[in-house]
Amino acid sequence: MNIAEWLARRARVSPGSQALFHGRSCVADYAAFDARARGVAAGLRARGIAPGDRVAIFMGNAPDWLIGFYGILYAGAAAVPINAKLHGREADFILYDSGAVLCFVDAVHGDSLRAAGVSCALDAPADIEEDRPETGPVARAGEDLAWLFYTSGTTGRPKGVRITHGMIAAMALSYLADVDRVDGRDATIYAAPMSHGAGLYNFMHVQAGARHVCPPSGGFDPAELLALAEHFGRAHLFAAPTMVRRLTDHAVHHGARGDGLRTVVYAGGPMYTADILAAVDHFGPKFVQIYGQGECPMAITALPRADVADRSHPDWRARLGSVGRAQSLVEVAIDGGDVGEVLVRGAPVMPGYWKNDAATADTLRDGWLRTGDIGRLDATGYLTLLDRSKDVIISGGSNIYPREVEEVLLTHPGVREASVIGRTHPDWGEEVVACVVGDADEAALRAHCATQIARFKIPKAFVFLPELPKNNYGKVLKTALRSANAPPD
Ligand code: ATP
Repeated sequence: MNIAEWLARRARVSPGSQALFHGRSCVADYAAFDARARGVAAGLRARGIAPGDRVAIFMGNAPDWLIGFYGILYAGAAAVPINAKLHGREADFILYDSGAVLCFVDAVHGDSLRAAGVSCALDAPADIEEDRPETGPVARAGEDLAWLFYTSGTTGRPKGVRITHGMIAAMALSYLADVDRVDGRDATIYAAPMSHGAGLYNFMHVQAGARHVCPPSGGFDPAELLALAEHFGRAHLFAAPTMVRRLTDHAVHHGARGDGLRTVVYAGGPMYTADILAAVDHFGPKFVQIYGQGECPMAITALPRADVADRSHPDWRARLGSVGRAQSLVEVAIDGGDVGEVLVRGAPVMPGYWKNDAATADTLRDGWLRTGDIGRLDATGYLTLLDRSKDVIISGGSNIYPREVEEVLLTHPGVREASVIGRTHPDWGEEVVACVVGDADEAALRAHCATQIARFKIPKAFVFLPELPKNNYGKVLKTALRSANAPPD
């Protein structure tokens, strides 16, 4: 099966349903979306692109992103979506690593690649379209590559994850079964980079025949987003935790109720309790959490809206701090006892990395995906993530999970953002360092921590920063904080 059959099917079932929007303007119904994808596929074939070839996309969020993307899949090729916020040189690494034969660009991203001296062919999807309606999706097998997904590079250089047609079907169907329902009246607003979770989220919405809305700003602007949500009603949003926080701050400040929002999926990094409480207090029960990673996209666990919002449940607090329970098509286990590395196996798990057998062998062992995240499962199956294994601090032989310390710091009114790291120490191995954005003073923070966590977890040093370094997905770059705060040689 070619996952793009879902679009072709939609075009047969509900050809006149509105599909693609630039802001409030509808630019294609499902018949036109399908026809344009066929045209792009024909253009790709005319350029000699064969099934299995890689075609990259380096464009801002726009209807033509989705048209180009489906054109690639219709042609049987694999898409290589590149985060539109990357520098041309960073994008060039992905073009080179993936062996892409062509890259779809818009004007801005084309210029950025040309300035970086890229040798790959560059074209806008609209420029290669041909009028060939017979070019339907080429047959593919479930194990064939559909999307070469580059991880965000939080812990090192981005790695290419091989996402197959079968994995996407499993991911989308388990979302629709376990997490949230979607139908033709719904609208998904693409406010996060389409090269990551927000783009993967398109499949659920194509399958359901929903509307796809690209904000004219091309990204995340809380005022624009809330206005679009109100206009469309029943709006869905895939958001990183930092976006949820900014959205709440904005809505509270401007008295916006966000009635048009139906579902906000948050994922991609830790959501601190104070932030999700503020969001639910303001917007109500619209939030669902997903835990996934490129290696098992969006499909490891889910915390449904009732669990996020139901304060009457005796376990509500604990559940809110968890990432929910395993989705239907995976099995989740903990390596070696109560607390340990989270392991996953099942249909949405990757067959391996792209051209990196050593990393594949390290990550897929004995039939399990090793996530690199440390977690704990409770008796009812709720998984709580403690931290990424690479971020755990070992001080005097004790494991300290930075996230626990960050949660405590964030309950202090003078702290806006906090990130806790380990710094090499001659006696203790590592010592705890807190990097803080806010206006609290060190003595007050130390005293605040002392009321809630053991002494060995209290940061030994506090570093006050105007902002935390983040990558283009809004994830805090602990590697940068560690090197900036390393002890002198
Ligand atoms: P790299 O692998 O290059 O370092 P990355 O880990 O950021 O980049 P992604 O696949 O983008 O790659 O992110 C997956 C990671 O994000 C997960 O392993 C987990 O650590 C974190 N994550 C995802 N969802 C959640 C969540 N709901 N709560 C906490 N952390 C999450």
